[in-house]
Amino acid sequence: MSKFIFVTGGVMSSLGKGIFSASLGRILLDEGFSVTILKMDPYLNVDAGVQNPFEHGEVFVTEDGAETDLDLGHYERFLNQNLHRINNITSGQVYLSVIEKERKGEYMGHTVQIIPHLTGEIRSRVTKVAEASKADFVIVEVGGTVGDIEGLPFLEAIREFWAEDPANSIFAHLTYVPYLETTDELKTKPTQHSVGELRKIGIQPTLVVARGVKELPADQKRKVALFCGVPADHVISLPNLTSVYKVPNYLQEQRVGHLVLSSFGMAPRTAETETPWVRFTWTIDQAKTPRRLAIVGKYVQLNDAYLSLREALHHGAWATGCDLHIDLVDSEDVEKQGVRLLDAGKYDGILVPGGFGKRGIEGMILAAGYARTHNLPYLGICLGMQVASIEFARNVLSIADANSQEFKPESKDLIIYLMPSQKGVQKLGGTMRLGVYENTITPGSRVQEAYGASTLSERHRHRYEFNNDYRTAFEEHGMRVAAVYPEEDLVESLELENHPFFVGVQFHPELSSKPLQPGPLFVAFVKAMLAHEG
Ligand code: GLN
Repeated sequence: MSKFIFVTGGVMSSLGKGIFSASLGRILLDEGFSVTILKMDPYLNVDAGVQNPFEHGEVFVTEDGAETDLDLGHYERFLNQNLHRINNITSGQVYLSVIEKERKGEYMGHTVQIIPHLTGEIRSRVTKVAEASKADFVIVEVGGTVGDIEGLPFLEAIREFWAEDPANSIFAHLTYVPYLETTDELKTKPTQHSVGELRKIGIQPTLVVARGVKELPADQKRKVALFCGVPADHVISLPNLTSVYKVPNYLQEQRVGHLVLSSFGMAPRTAETETPWVRFTWTIDQAKTPRRLAIVGKYVQLNDAYLSLREALHHGAWATGCDLHIDLVDSEDVEKQGVRLLDAGKYDGILVPGGFGKRGIEGMILAAGYARTHNLPYLGICLGMQVASIEFARNVLSIADANSQEFKPESKDLIIYLMPSQKGVQKLGGTMRLGVYENTITPGSRVQEAYGASTLSERHRHRYEFNNDYRTAFEEHGMRVAAVYPEEDLVESLELENHPFFVGVQFHPELSSKPLQPGPLFVAFVKAMLAHEG
């Protein structure tokens, strides 16, 4: 029988409920329990797949090919385990399934309503995750902010969940405590209001977590406690820290693990304090050798657009003692102003990340060419492998019109073209090549050196692929195929033979990288940057 911890948010969004939920999961794991986390997203999209990265940040892809909210990435990284499609529930999914059931007549003529039908559907999905995972703790993060209209069915569903079995559920509410400079004060009124809002719908939080720029002092904790109906030690302060990975340790200093366990009448199973996680967090401050990387892409305005990628790069950097500084360079600027943006020994490496659509492509091609001709370490991910192939075809093989079907379908030389399985696909949602595929690695390649194995399994999210008609010419001129998907003979990785590190991969290695298991390609790439001398 699982215990349930429901995490809600108040006052405003982007407070870090995902990091808090993931950190709580980490704490409970380290106290000897099994944990899973699921995210409820109240938006009406069925999944995150067709959402614009500018608006929502990156789309995270699970091993089983679901396109999910980026919080799933936090969960996987903190828990050091992989989650599944069922760990992300959206309003779109639950409405869709209720309406489909209604059309099939499954409600036997009853009026179909938000309560109990929609809330019932939500509850059954939570139960399904508990049953499938058999986890001791199921942490459920409710997206959005208390008071949002679209979040109400989810809050009602978790209230019903608790009401049915109060001994096995608790609530943690994350709020914002603003700091007022003019009076040098932390203001708790918004927190009081937001907990008031929760209580109005029948939810009494067990823990109140105060986010803010500053630590909440003891007297303020007592005030929040009084107004919110919790003991003072159940008010947790969570100011901004230098790394999100330090949040579990910070929460443990306030005995959050103990508070959660004792509210279920439980005790920790282990007393280890120097856990692998704690030891990992020490490496963050020990990374001293500075290196500078340019990510040349199109989604540079929003930090979250390359979230997993930045995390993976840091995992690789911390594992190798590198203090990595990442600059986001707009590929359109490179297109307009040229490679001088990358010039003058500013960077120790260039990375072109995944992306869709034509805008800024020529800038990415220039960046790949710059890395190739300047012996600068290069990692091309998905689109980044595709642009590197186009650049190589144009400038090494002298195929002037080389392009991708995505950007110039009329080109005579489509180095990158639509996968046969994608021809005729009309629907946008959930129709790409998604999820994990096992690749065979070419012996003696850099990819093999990085993975130290003869196969690799990484996640995918793309429609286009390398055109095998050009394979021999590429290989004859020093661009080696480093990994393939043997079932369909798809090129999954290309690398330059005579270059310190120039690797393109069709998959997304950033999605599986975790602090306790850094992605091998990121470790190898950072090592190449460390070896690079300006
Ligand atoms: N747009 C390219 C494709 O669909 C690359 C996708 C990506 O980078 N994720 O193949």
